[in-house]
Amino acid sequence: MSALDMLAPEQRGLFIGGSWREAEGGDEFAVYDPADGSVLTRVADGSVGDAVEALDAAVAAQHDWARTPPRQRAEILRSAFELISARADDFAALMSLEMGKTVAEAKGEVSYGNEFFRWFSEEAVRIHGRWMNNPMGGSRLLTLKKPVGPCFFVTPWNFPLAMGTRKIGPAIAAGCTMVVKPAHQTPLTMLALAAVLAEAGLPAGVLNVVPSTRAKEMSQALQADDRLRKVSFTGSTAVGRTLVKQSADQLQRVSMELGGNAPFLVFEDADVDAAVEGAMIAKMRNMGEACTAANRFLVHETVAEEFGAKLADKMAALRVGRGQDDGVDVGPLIDEKAVESVGQLVTDAVHDGAKVLTGGGAPESTGYFYTPTVLLGVHPDSTINAEEIFGPVAPITTFTTEEEAVDRANATEYGLASYVYTRDLDRTIRLAESLEYGMVGVNTGLLSNPAAPFGGVKASGFGREGGFEGIEEYLETTYVAIPTS
Ligand code: NAD
Repeated sequence: MSALDMLAPEQRGLFIGGSWREAEGGDEFAVYDPADGSVLTRVADGSVGDAVEALDAAVAAQHDWARTPPRQRAEILRSAFELISARADDFAALMSLEMGKTVAEAKGEVSYGNEFFRWFSEEAVRIHGRWMNNPMGGSRLLTLKKPVGPCFFVTPWNFPLAMGTRKIGPAIAAGCTMVVKPAHQTPLTMLALAAVLAEAGLPAGVLNVVPSTRAKEMSQALQADDRLRKVSFTGSTAVGRTLVKQSADQLQRVSMELGGNAPFLVFEDADVDAAVEGAMIAKMRNMGEACTAANRFLVHETVAEEFGAKLADKMAALRVGRGQDDGVDVGPLIDEKAVESVGQLVTDAVHDGAKVLTGGGAPESTGYFYTPTVLLGVHPDSTINAEEIFGPVAPITTFTTEEEAVDRANATEYGLASYVYTRDLDRTIRLAESLEYGMVGVNTGLLSNPAAPFGGVKASGFGREGGFEGIEEYLETTYVAIPTS
């Protein structure tokens, strides 16, 4: 049985108003296997008209969904959580196939992503307002929380399941309806997710999924529509800026989870072995194709050689190959452009004086692979320190003082994830306060947690996914003044 069998032929279509259907004019696009570039299957290519129909369905469902008891919304999410848990292996196999990550990594994502459904099933019943007396007397002030209304979600290819559940979970919990456009590279996981939510009892029209290669035209049309009340996007900062601009005319609410350029700071008092372990996670999770991926290793000059050598040993031991094969640690990158862009950053860093400790190129193969690479002595001004690598490359630069490390860590337009390795408590607190990042990992390479508010500052965007804050993104606060009689 193939992993693709998880989706019946009609489920490779659009999911609108609770039904599966073809795209307008029967248009389709191909989904490719990044391990060899072959066509896996074809999926309906939604038109702008299809997207507007999906919004029609979301708008039609909004009134009743907002009035559905929170417990009922919670139980649908909880059922979906149970169904996904039971089919975790199938989801992982499908995701590995379309995205390239190893099956083990895909299982990790299913588990992590699914936790957002469990978390928000628990949050759905805790939406509440406030009742207070006017401090001046004469009235009471009743604060209400209401669903924002129909939403538009755009998700990236790197975490096809989790980037969806982080938006869909809280929206369902809050009583919002939605149109989702998954990345065209990885639409299959989102379609399988839609099938599971329907099976879990989600009413028709609450969730609509429109795979499409016409992202730009679709977002323009939907954002011009005054019925759309909210946009949540995960992807590049460039596209995020466009969507924020497009939100201006209808003054839609926006949440933006954008790019990162995470510093990974290793101080002279750090446990270097633990730092190497953490670096492997922070760098190599998802082949480095993560917005939280450690992008710049800033290592104190006294431990840089040791850290670099130990990291290089571990990176060199990783097996690169097809994500579905046993014993493979690192799958292919998403496409040829990704391999070229990673290769160019490495070439430029070497040109600027970096030494290659391991890797440094793409292996001979038909797929989009890049060998895990460690670079020592990278010039601070090398392009690789300014841009998101989105690949398995660890560039190391050295620093002398804590002040210098913090200044360099903050010298980027981004502010999503950061990591510090130190055993000094005072320093930890100073760093947590001075690093301009939405998230700081202290002696850990793993930050993502559904119970925590994930998100960035500066050009990494705004809005939080997960934690108690996650549901607020989908709620409006209103108030009622009630005179004291
Ligand atoms: P991308 O911005 O090119 O694409 C993301 C999504 O946006 C895709 O679905 C794409 O089809 C869609 N899109 C592109 N142009 C659009 C437009 N004009 N209107 C509407 N939708 C449009 O990014 P990508 O290459 O797919 O993903 C990688 C980027 O995402 C990286 O920068 C990474 O850091 C970021 N990312 C951020 C987070 C986070 O939570 N902050 C998580 C994962 C990825």
